[in-house]
Order: sequence, then C-alpha cells, then structure tokens
Amino acid sequence: MKLKTKIQLFSSLFMLLFIMLVNTSIYFLFYKISVDNELELLSDQTRTIMETMKENPDIPKTELLRAYLPNNGLIRIIDEKDRELIPIITKQKEFRELPSAYSTREVKEIVRDETGSPIAVIRKPIIWENGEIVTLQVANYLFPLEETMRTLLYVLVAASIIMLIPTIIAGNFLSKFILRPIKELISTMKDNTKSENWKTIEIENKSKDELYEMEKTFNEMIAHLKENFERQEVFVSDASHELKTPISIIKSYAELLKRRGKSHPEVFEESIDAIDTEADRMQQLVNQLLDLAKNKQSAPSTELDLVKLTKNVIHTFQAAYERDIYFKSEVDTILIKGNEDQLEQIIYILLSNAIKYSEKEINIVLTEQKDTVKLRVVDKGLGIRTNDQKRIFDRFYRVDQARTRTSGGIGLGLAIAKAISEAHNGSLTVNSEEGKGTTFTLELPIMKKS
Ligand code: ADP
Repeated sequence: MKLKTKIQLFSSLFMLLFIMLVNTSIYFLFYKISVDNELELLSDQTRTIMETMKENPDIPKTELLRAYLPNNGLIRIIDEKDRELIPIITKQKEFRELPSAYSTREVKEIVRDETGSPIAVIRKPIIWENGEIVTLQVANYLFPLEETMRTLLYVLVAASIIMLIPTIIAGNFLSKFILRPIKELISTMKDNTKSENWKTIEIENKSKDELYEMEKTFNEMIAHLKENFERQEVFVSDASHELKTPISIIKSYAELLKRRGKSHPEVFEESIDAIDTEADRMQQLVNQLLDLAKNKQSAPSTELDLVKLTKNVIHTFQAAYERDIYFKSEVDTILIKGNEDQLEQIIYILLSNAIKYSEKEINIVLTEQKDTVKLRVVDKGLGIRTNDQKRIFDRFYRVDQARTRTSGGIGLGLAIAKAISEAHNGSLTVNSEEGKGTTFTLELPIMKKS
C-alpha cells in the first residue's frame, strides 16, 4: 500500500471512529434525558390522578380516570391477584395487551412492546375503596420520542458524512505535504545513482521542520560522500603516479642493458644498482600503501608500556644510524592500551623523519598528563613552513619534492602515523619553526597510573 493511501486511510478511519463515538454519545444521552423527562411527566400525572381520586371520592372512577388518560396509553387498577378492579381505560384496543404487574411500591420503567416501541410505565400503590392496597398503572407509548430519535439518527449520520469530507481533504493535503520532499529525495537519489553525480536538494527558504532536517542531512551526506570519493580518486592517481616513476626508471635501465649491457660492463653495474634502488622504492611504496589501508581497520590491542616500547625503537635506531638520540621520561612505566606493532610504527616514522630532516641531536620526551601521555620527538633540523605544516599529514604530500626524493621519502609516513594515532583515540600534532627545528607530539590516552 502506498504511503499516501496509508496516511489518508488512517486519518479518515481515525476521524470516523471519533465522530461515531461522539455521535453515539449524543444519541444515547439525548435518549436518556428524553426518557427520564417522559417518566417524570407521567409520574406527575399519576400523582395528580391519585390526589384527584382522593379529593373527589364521589366521582365515578372510570369517568375520572378517562379524563386523565394519556394520548397513547392506558390506565388500569389491579389487585394483588392481578385482577382488574375497573375495566381498562384506553383509546386503542391493542394497548390492552400491555402486561400488568402488581406492585406495593412506586415503579418507573421503560418497557418495549413486541415491535420494540418504548412505553413509559408508572406503577403506584393506592388504597382502594375496600381498604385493600391495589396498583394504579399508567402507561404511555412514546411514539413522538421514537420519531424524534429516528430523525436525530438521520441528522447525526448525515453530519458524520459531512464532517468526513474535510477530513479526507485534509488527509490528502497532509500526505501531499509529507510526500513531496520524500519524492524529491527519491528522485535525487535515483538521479545520483544513474548518472553518478552529486546532486543535492534545494533547501533554501524551506520551513525548518523534520523534513527540512532530513533533506539537510541528505545534502550533508552527499557532500561527505563526494569529498571522500574525490579524495579516493586523488589517492589512486597519486599512488599510480608514484609507481610510474620507478617503473619507467627500471624500464629505461632494462632497455639500456638490452642494448649495451653486454658490451659495456660499467653500464651493467650502474643499471643493476638503479633497478635495485627503484625496486626497493616500489616495495616501500606498496608496503606503505598496504599499511595505510590496514591502519583503518581496528587491530588487536593489548596492555603495553610506552616507556619500554620507545626505548626499544630508540635502541634499534641508535644501532643503525650513528646519531645522538636522547630519551627522557618522568616515570618508569606508562601503561596504555593499543597495538604494539602500530604504535612502534608511529615512533619509527617520527624518528626516521627527524633523522632524515635534521643533523643535530634528537630528543624524545615522555610526559604524563592527567588522563593522557605525550610523546614528543624534537629535532633541531630544517623545520617546516607554517603553510606546509597543515598539509604534511596529507597522503603523498612532501614539502620539498627534490629533497625528499633524494632522502627516499614518499609522503605517506605522517599520513600513516596520524591514522594510527586516531585509531588509538589519540592525536598527532606538529610544532615547527623553519631553520630551527620540529617537534611532533603524539598524545594517547593512559590506561592506568603507573
Ligand atoms: P616522507 O616519506 O616524505 O618523509 P612524511 O609523510 O613522513 O613523508 O612527511 C611529509 C613531509 O613532511 C616530508 O616530505 C617532509 O618534507 C616533512 N617532514 C616530516 N618530518 C619532518 C621533520 N622532522 N623536519 C622537517 N620536515 C619534516
């Protein structure tokens, strides 16, 4: 079933139910009030009959009672054994069929004949001429009330139908109002899927309701998807570009080898060296690309000591490069939760950059804050310009292409380090002054106080 039909059906049914409830209440309330009134009137009339009989004992009972006979009713007096003490007084003989009942207390009731017509009946005890207690029964067929109730029923049914018309119209408007933005959303989505574009919905000058929120969220989602898609495209083209350079170098050296390799041994040596270097570079690039993809996924984490981990990395670097690397920590143990390999990789990246881009000593400082630990890698090297500082965490961004190419950089190290730090709920920031040096700060949440 369509949403429009559902809204219309639901609102109409709900309204119909409500109208029926109200109208039924009106109908029965009116009936009750009218019946009570009729009974009260007949009771008053019965009381008057009793008083008149008492005050005028000389007037023949039949004559007197005939004077008080209700229009559509009867009057009868019966004794304990249901015997009629005077002939029944009525204008229509079919009223005689109305059952009688002896009663020693006042009774007011509505009974129905075999056709279902209501009859108001009053029974009151009176003292008869012989001193016996007998029952005076006065009954009246409520034909006019029946007629009125029938008319009221027609009026209420007609009113219900008339009231339903605006409900159906309102339901139609409501469904159109709600469905318009949804339809627009669906058509924009279909359009985007079909033609792979990034169409958004026009939301200016629209009232700020939930539907506006839905369209706004959709536009934000499209903008986000577009940004990610474009970033992905740039990444793929950057990656292929980076791979192209070593491949073309390898290819040109291979051709050189083919042409002159056999006759010129010096060309042979040079080509093999270049091919080896470029193959290394390709391997490094592919590994880093894989790292980048891997670090987006959550890696298994364990409890580890950051002091120990940092010391291990420093030790490896000191053995490989003859550089002064100093380590300082306020505490002996700092426990954090994370993936050992990934965290080690961050320190590797920061330390190898410091070695690449500086010549003096390097300081690594660990400081404990309230809930976090800060690892700072401080060098006194080239430094980074303020404009470049914002971009060094972008993939494939290198400050100085020529210089980094000679130092072997691809521009992925800091992007990997940042991705890992964020996967560990931490952050990686830079502070640098050109010509004076650079400090990279890795901040991670602490697991327990040491
Ligand atoms: P790369 O593999 O080129 O080093 P990174 O992502 O690690 O790539 O670094 C991006 C750029 O940031 C580098 O090309 C370099 O110019 C600059 N950079 C990184 N670390 C330092 C540093 N300690 N001192 C100066 N420049 C740095």
